[in-house]
Amino acid sequence: MKFKIITLIFVLIIGLEITLKIDLFLIILTLILYLIIVIYGSSVICSNFYFKSFCKKQTNKKIFAITFDDGPNKEFTPKFLDVLNKENIPATFFCIGKNIEKNTNIAKQISKNHLLANHSYSHSNFFDIYPSSRVIDEIKKTNKLIKDITGNNNLYFRPPFGVTNPNIAKAISKLNIKSIGWSIRTFDTTNKTEKNIFNDFKKNITGGDIILLHDNNQKTLNLLTKIIKYAQKNDFKIVSLEELIN
Ligand SMILES: [Zn+2]
Repeated sequence: MKFKIITLIFVLIIGLEITLKIDLFLIILTLILYLIIVIYGSSVICSNFYFKSFCKKQTNKKIFAITFDDGPNKEFTPKFLDVLNKENIPATFFCIGKNIEKNTNIAKQISKNHLLANHSYSHSNFFDIYPSSRVIDEIKKTNKLIKDITGNNNLYFRPPFGVTNPNIAKAISKLNIKSIGWSIRTFDTTNKTEKNIFNDFKKNITGGDIILLHDNNQKTLNLLTKIIKYAQKNDFKIVSLEELIN
């Protein structure tokens, strides 16, 4: 939506610049400014540049939801499930279709107490240059895998890398699914230390947040325990994504 309006405005500005025979340098500068805005809009999912993504609920309640991307992971996902299930905490797992195929039993374990959702089939580095037909195929293929396990039609999709574009917009609208972003990105798979991640989490958590984590490493597993303890101590309730949305 914003993409179309901004593109239209820039086409008009550049058209005017050409008509008024303005210096080529200024026209190039205008083009660069347009590109910067497009790159920002594509890489920041919550800018809702091409379509609306749910990133945070506006609320005074001390609630938040936990989401995990890129699983199921053979080694780590069962450990995450142990921690969550012991404390009776709901979470959402945005799984990669090909990982579901490799770890069907773990995906089944997830679905017993948590939401199994779609994070594309391949999570390919080239996903963002795929035509909409291929994006649709990937989402459908993973939704079919989820349905085979849960018996339900999955409604939730998180774009790989959180990158959005017009082709993903088309796919989401055609398949009538909801795009889910986040309000707190932990950068748990980068070099950022556990301590720094946890400090930033405490600083940024207000209420209605969606936390982005990955169920594929020990650092995040340690963090999960800390986050749960922090929530319990500070009267935050960790709710399911569906409860947060509805
Ligand atoms: Zn991912």
